[in-house]
Amino acid sequence: MQSIDLHDLTVAELAASLRDRKVSAVETAQHFLNRAQAQAGLGAFLDTDEAVTLRQARAADARLAAGTAGRLEGVPMAHKDIFVTRDFATTAGSRMLAGYRSPFDATVVSRLADAGVVTLGKLNCDEFAMGSANENSAFHPVKNPWDTSRTPGGSSGGSAAAVAARLAPAATGTDTGGSIRQPASFCGITGIKPTYGRASRYGMVAFASSLDQAGVLARTAEDCALLLSSMCGPDPDRDSTSLDVPAEDFTRTLDADINGLRIGVPSEFFGEGLAPDVRAAVDAALKQYEALGARLVPISLPRTELSIPVYYIIAPAEASSNLSRFDGVKFGHRAKNFTDLTDMYEQTRAEGFGDEVKRRIMIGTYVLSHGYYDAYYLQAQKIRRMIADDFQQAFKDCDVIAGPVAPTVAWELGGHGNDPLADYLADVFTLPASLAGLPGMSLPVGFGARNLPVGLQLIGNHLTEARLLNVAHRFQQATDWHTRRPQGI
Ligand code: GLN
Repeated sequence: MQSIDLHDLTVAELAASLRDRKVSAVETAQHFLNRAQAQAGLGAFLDTDEAVTLRQARAADARLAAGTAGRLEGVPMAHKDIFVTRDFATTAGSRMLAGYRSPFDATVVSRLADAGVVTLGKLNCDEFAMGSANENSAFHPVKNPWDTSRTPGGSSGGSAAAVAARLAPAATGTDTGGSIRQPASFCGITGIKPTYGRASRYGMVAFASSLDQAGVLARTAEDCALLLSSMCGPDPDRDSTSLDVPAEDFTRTLDADINGLRIGVPSEFFGEGLAPDVRAAVDAALKQYEALGARLVPISLPRTELSIPVYYIIAPAEASSNLSRFDGVKFGHRAKNFTDLTDMYEQTRAEGFGDEVKRRIMIGTYVLSHGYYDAYYLQAQKIRRMIADDFQQAFKDCDVIAGPVAPTVAWELGGHGNDPLADYLADVFTLPASLAGLPGMSLPVGFGARNLPVGLQLIGNHLTEARLLNVAHRFQQATDWHTRRPQGI
């Protein structure tokens, strides 16, 4: 096989070629490492180590030769720099953890390694996964391969850009309020965030623990299904919130018929704020689903807009608590100049954290403080429950929910200036499913202004990932949006 074609293969095709020994794991890894180097200007990677990757690839080749190969043996992948890894530095996009090396691998990382995945390196992201444009990375922003003056989205911006530019066939991501779905949408690829608790949070640098969820970005729903099957499953000794639900083979039902499928279309997702170009692509996708035998059902998610204030109270509250561990004592950055212990804490945190992280720590501390807890945090928790109830009401009338992922296509790097609210508002369509702990995905369904990709969001009830992936796969069998590539890639 011509190595030039390797980056065009899907994960499923690559796994088969490796299994059939048409290509070696070393050759595959080297090919992607070379591509990553050639495209370093995109800023997708934060750490690579050729020696480590090739060592893993040689071990994969040995297992392929010995007939002890895993399902994904030799398939290369890169991880969002929120997952801790023994073999690569882990920074969470923060100066606070610059150069930090974990003594262990995150569960998601080790499960993929058990299945045979070879790690290409660590991918850029917003600092502690806080952001929607990857511009909060302490190191450098990531460019969108479709238009390098635009953001790839965030916080898993490095993951989405790497997959779209074919620097990796797939990448892990995390989604707290949309960080897999929105970058997948902005970069024209497929991404899924499973039900909260489906994949272990062990070894994921914590942002907002009641929302953080690992997932995957790839070019096709089939690849997402394949990878997710290896990532999920209970982890009772290490993550007490991981669900006691056995691992599932999400590829088994990919081809299931979607005739008669009821797709709920929430009116609140199609209001004034939705850009006409995004709306046109989403409407066309819904029509395509009708042509495939699905039925559109108008539904209402009346508290959609409230998800913004609710999320931006709860997520910072949890972040302020999670990030208290970065105090210069146990690990990570420590200030060089200080007078006493308190000053050491203060200098360390002032130097180590970026502006957005500091903003959230301050908001979080405020909403949890005596006198404000009832007014903000408790109210937010109550509305969070109502948002979850709204979904249960909606799922009485439909099997899945569909709508836009984001109100616009990818915006210009720096386009939101110093206005964090502009970023927050753009999260309006992804936050509701996150607050309800529901699985959600994005699949490419067309192009909007300036030929920038548009994603369709699918939201399912708890533990219906297999159905979501099936619904996305059927669409991809009938269309070719997922095969489009940025110019020059
Ligand atoms: N954009 C949201 C935020 O800034 C979501 C981020 C995420 O899902 N990690 O918090």
